[in-house]
Amino acid sequence: MSQGALAKRQFGHRARLVLSPAEVPVAEAQAHAARTMWNLLHAWWQMMPKDKRTLAQADDAVRQARKDLDFLAVLPAQAAQAVLKTYVQAWKNCWQGRADAPNFKGRFRSFMSVDIPQGRDLNIKRVHRRWGMVNLPRIGRIRFRWTKDLPIGKHASTENRISGARLIKNALGWHIAFRVTTLEPKPEPHRGGEVGIDVGVTVPLAVKSARGTVEEPARNVAQKAGLNRSIAAEAWGRTVTMLTYKTARYGGSLVKVPGPGTSQRCSACGVTTAGSRESQAVFVCKNPDCGWSGNADHNAARNILHLYRIGLVAFPAAGRAVVRRARRVKPPTVR
Ligand SMILES: [Zn+2]
Repeated sequence: MSQGALAKRQFGHRARLVLSPAEVPVAEAQAHAARTMWNLLHAWWQMMPKDKRTLAQADDAVRQARKDLDFLAVLPAQAAQAVLKTYVQAWKNCWQGRADAPNFKGRFRSFMSVDIPQGRDLNIKRVHRRWGMVNLPRIGRIRFRWTKDLPIGKHASTENRISGARLIKNALGWHIAFRVTTLEPKPEPHRGGEVGIDVGVTVPLAVKSARGTVEEPARNVAQKAGLNRSIAAEAWGRTVTMLTYKTARYGGSLVKVPGPGTSQRCSACGVTTAGSRESQAVFVCKNPDCGWSGNADHNAARNILHLYRIGLVAFPAAGRAVVRRARRVKPPTVR
């Protein structure tokens, strides 16, 4: 069954939106209304006796609030329903032990976002090599940056489609995150080599390619460029999550190895000497027969790959693509 086997895949794709100065306040008003809706819902939930906390009752409360409070009415009805759905799901996640109890969303603690739960409302069209157009409820027809082929028009089907989206404002402005569902051939096991990754301080992420990677050099280079970009912007934990599923997507896997000592060991001769690390950035081997020197994080990344190859694995998994160190690089102890 390895040939022709299909796998359902769900992923998000985020694209930059181009909102005019007149459209930005509309999007912001919607996001503030969505957050307020959440907070009102949470207050209502805590106030109600337990037996009255039902989806139907909450739905009635949401509808009434939208009638009573003018500023809530700017939020499209579908988006308000999405707030309710997300809130109820948050409690389910809590009851099943996956998350903490839902809480109030503070103005400065939460992202501004508005949900568009119906994919068919979006009416996405590609209008240029680099641009697409999308319908945003009560905002208008908006241009977005086209960086990935999306299943729209004749490419859309029950299995391949955009099921919804979310407007998000981050430090770089307003974006749209599409929810994409696809049915794709299962990836063949990855035949490329292994790569050691070290979480560094000087070099954000040092990637040591193994000899085997020359099989597919172009793709690996692209992945590395993406990695360096993503680690600068994202939290490390999230990068690990992304790496895990991205490597799985190409038939590989992520393996963690224990970190201690990898910044003190010389990757050229294999000798660990205290104080070999010259500075945060430079590693100079203190073994008189060796004397190798180079970038400290690069050295650590090579050691990580070595640990993986000799079988020192913290997270064993089938196949292999990426090896990473489990801990951050510590500055050398001065004696
Ligand atoms: Zn050495």
